[in-house]
Amino acid sequence: MEQNKEYIRLAADLQSDSIVDGPGLRTVIWTQGCNHHCKGCQNPQTWSFKGGGLVPIKEVLKEIDKLEYQSGVTFSGGDPMYQPYACEKIAKYAKKKGLNIWVYTGFTYEELIDMSKSDSIYLEFLKNIDVLVDGKFILEERDLSLLFRGSRNQRLIDVQKTLETGEISLLNEYEYMEEKVFEREHMYV
Ligand code: SF4
Repeated sequence: MEQNKEYIRLAADLQSDSIVDGPGLRTVIWTQGCNHHCKGCQNPQTWSFKGGGLVPIKEVLKEIDKLEYQSGVTFSGGDPMYQPYACEKIAKYAKKKGLNIWVYTGFTYEELIDMSKSDSIYLEFLKNIDVLVDGKFILEERDLSLLFRGSRNQRLIDVQKTLETGEISLLNEYEYMEEKVFEREHMYV
């Protein structure tokens, strides 16, 4: 996808008050464009790199200024990693406002680090991400008991800790939360 530094291609308007795309009340930025084409993807309409609409990044920043009662911003799609320049700009801005940043991508963390060797923007984007939910959705590994992710191969990565130590650091508290959800769902069985 052509990298436009002034615009971002979005699949939909920003969606506030989501409770399923990370912890707390979150605003979701639905990016348009994805080449992973996972079998069972819930948003195949976001695959086309010509779909959705081009929105000035400035407009998105204005929307972020207006947010109230949100714990964070979640980049989803589509795959935000196909628009790293625009997403990095928005993530950096939102982070400075105290919002926590989650990003869903079909790439693995390791692939992104590899990609950053030829274009440092991927690393710059990672530096502004709190949690990366990484990897393709694999239908055969779908697990409805998982929190904030669809298939078992996907990981909730604490990006800042991972960058600091050089070793993948997963969010253990969410594994704990998953156990609680599982227990609750099976309490009356
Ligand atoms: S990475 Fe996400 S948006 Fe892209 S095809 Fe896979 S599930 Fe769908």
